[in-house]
Amino acid sequence: MHYVREVRGVLGGTVRHLYFASLLWSIFWPLAVHADYASGRTTAFVHVNVIPMDRERVLADQTVIVEGNQIVAMGDQLTVPKHAQVIDGHKTAYLSPGLADMHTHSETPNDLAVYLANGVTTILHMGGAHAGFVDSIVPAVNRGAIPGPHVYTSFKVDGSRDYNAFVIKTPAEARAVVGLAKTNGYDFIKVYVGLAPDAFFALAEEGRRLAMPLVGHGVYAVRLERQLAEGQVLIAHAEEFFYTFFTPPGVDESDAPPDPSRIASAVALAKRYNVAVTADVGTYAAIAHQIGRADVVTSYLARPESLYLSPNDRLAWQMSAYANKTAKLAPKLAFLRMLVKAMADAGVELVAGTDAPTIAGLPPGFSLHDSLSDLEASGLTRFQALSTATRAPGSFMQRTKGGDLFGIVAPGYRADLILSSKNPLDTLTTLRTPMGVMVQGQWRDAAALKDLTEKIRQSYRRASEAP
Ligand SMILES: [Zn+2]
Repeated sequence: MHYVREVRGVLGGTVRHLYFASLLWSIFWPLAVHADYASGRTTAFVHVNVIPMDRERVLADQTVIVEGNQIVAMGDQLTVPKHAQVIDGHKTAYLSPGLADMHTHSETPNDLAVYLANGVTTILHMGGAHAGFVDSIVPAVNRGAIPGPHVYTSFKVDGSRDYNAFVIKTPAEARAVVGLAKTNGYDFIKVYVGLAPDAFFALAEEGRRLAMPLVGHGVYAVRLERQLAEGQVLIAHAEEFFYTFFTPPGVDESDAPPDPSRIASAVALAKRYNVAVTADVGTYAAIAHQIGRADVVTSYLARPESLYLSPNDRLAWQMSAYANKTAKLAPKLAFLRMLVKAMADAGVELVAGTDAPTIAGLPPGFSLHDSLSDLEASGLTRFQALSTATRAPGSFMQRTKGGDLFGIVAPGYRADLILSSKNPLDTLTTLRTPMGVMVQGQWRDAAALKDLTEKIRQSYRRASEAP
């Protein structure tokens, strides 16, 4: 793929060079046996209305040319290369960036395929994965050998064994784990609530040294303000502000929300340190609805999208611990909506995240669409809501890790795209039923996507019917 990358600079919007480049590429193709994704393949979307998501606008009747895994040209006067696969939008279809779910715990090829069928072309795995996921499934999906979104991963550490994390107690252990996580292919260190301050500071320092940034929760003994000052780049849930910012140290969190006048201080903190915040209002809403309510979990399992939930996750949902808890989260949910809206308006980098599939009601893929609707219901504009799953995750990953550009439709960006029949800036729900999805230059139309998910649905049904 390096050749295509080098060529990018000389394209200058014409396709003549591009055509020449792919001719050359086809000569070199036999050397590139390890590149499974769409190496050397050219696709042209013609007569599509582009929602680039760099800012709020629609570019009517465009041609978008994809070479390998990258968008290489976009305009209204481009000539389509003769050898290109052509996808015609007939001036009525809309092309927008593929979606990102920046907080998942999915780790099976089936889940990855379900994400893709939902237009999700990037996920950030937020910790606790089995080793086989990071060792073999992630590299396979990232080179296009199995269908699914591009996957980034984080390694979860905590100070105790209470929450299924890798435990570190001392600064020496903290430093060692950062190096080990990097060696094992992880992108981030995910910090959890019970870390000791010295261990946290060592993680932050070693993370800076090895370009392994910290993401994750508020740490009780450190608190958000100090964590951000140490360089943590992502707060993994908006509600972390309740636990380690609004609630004073040593005070038990209560069901009563903070005074709304304090929202400005949380927004100012996020702005001061340029931290990204996972806008998981939909997830908090699902938790609020199911607390103490086994019947709500039953209703989640009866939804059509739960047919794509693995038998394991189905069992886990049925045993949801929230059903046995008592708390009245509705007032705090209302506060969280105000907080997230204020952050969106202030330009805080909000990224979408669902926690799928570990929390009941949040199946892979489908729940990202629920999450975007929930942001719209919280008062975000559709552009603000869609930014959390496109532009913002792309800029977050670029800023913190570098690598491929994604999240915007423009030359030089990864070819992760959704074709939809309506303008998503008029109706986000059109993204739930894509006409087709491209991930890293590989195109699948609606029928191919349906084929993927149908096989999964049938295998899960057979598993539950087995004698
Ligand atoms: Zn999580």
